[in-house]
Amino acid sequence: MEARPAIRVEAPAVPAKKEGQLPVEQPELKMNAKSVNLWYGDAQALFDVSLEIFDKSVTALIGPSGCGKSTFLRCLDRMNDVIEGVRITGDIRLDGDDIYAPNVDPVQLRARVGMVFQKPNPFPKSIFENVAYGPRIHGLATSKTDLEEIVVHSLTKAGLFEEVKDRLQEPGTGLSGGQQQRLCIARAISVNPEVLLMDEPCSALDPIATAKIETLMDELKESLCMVIVTHSMQQAARVSQRTAFFHLGKLVEVDETTRIFTNPTDQRTQDYVTGRFG
Ligand code: ADP
Ligand code: MG
Repeated sequence: MEARPAIRVEAPAVPAKKEGQLPVEQPELKMNAKSVNLWYGDAQALFDVSLEIFDKSVTALIGPSGCGKSTFLRCLDRMNDVIEGVRITGDIRLDGDDIYAPNVDPVQLRARVGMVFQKPNPFPKSIFENVAYGPRIHGLATSKTDLEEIVVHSLTKAGLFEEVKDRLQEPGTGLSGGQQQRLCIARAISVNPEVLLMDEPCSALDPIATAKIETLMDELKESLCMVIVTHSMQQAARVSQRTAFFHLGKLVEVDETTRIFTNPTDQRTQDYVTGRFG
């Protein structure tokens, strides 16, 4: 069930330059994937996927179940590295640097490229510790006050602080599903990532909690590059500026979200967005 069923398409990411106005700033390329192939053992799951991902905007990955959305998302923070038998070819860059280069530490990479999962997964620790953990292990706070400031700031940015400020020492697992997901977002942003990946972050949430997360995505994209996987076309239309349609492990089409939903080029995209399969 959707929170707000009507498809409302946002203005395109690159506004048209108008007469007499200063040139509009072009969106900055943040990540760039070129010809990515991925195999789980002998089974190929991604075929020659290339995608440019722009800063300070939301890119949505859509497509039928099993088409490779999560697999591709996990390539962007090297989460597939930890899966036995995975082989990846191609080239993925963050600010122009190869994230699969031998000198890249995946743990450091994941501080720059954060991930929020489908099912909220707070640590079995207090609300405070859930958020303080990352900044502490990455040495981002020089004092206890510093750390407290980071925690409060992160919870505030995640739209959760007001709801939990009187129970920061209580377990994160005691919160509602929607609050747990916002806690996971606070945890992800506490280490100042540049990119935030979200894999169907609302699929376990009710419509009200979903609406809160969508509002949050809108705010976070002002300072972050975001990539979200969603099975909801309405959600993609509401929150993203660019949409990439995947089918059978291939990226079929990527464009401004408006265009993907109103005037796609490929017949497969057309069939999917008009609900003919999926
Ligand atoms: P989506 O997120 O679009 O539903 P996935 O990326 O999860 O799709 O899956 C793409 C394909 O890769 C599917 O055929 C799926 O069965 C397979 N796959 C996903 N994860 C694994 C894994 N850990 N081991 C083996 N095959 C996997
Ligand atoms: Mg998935």
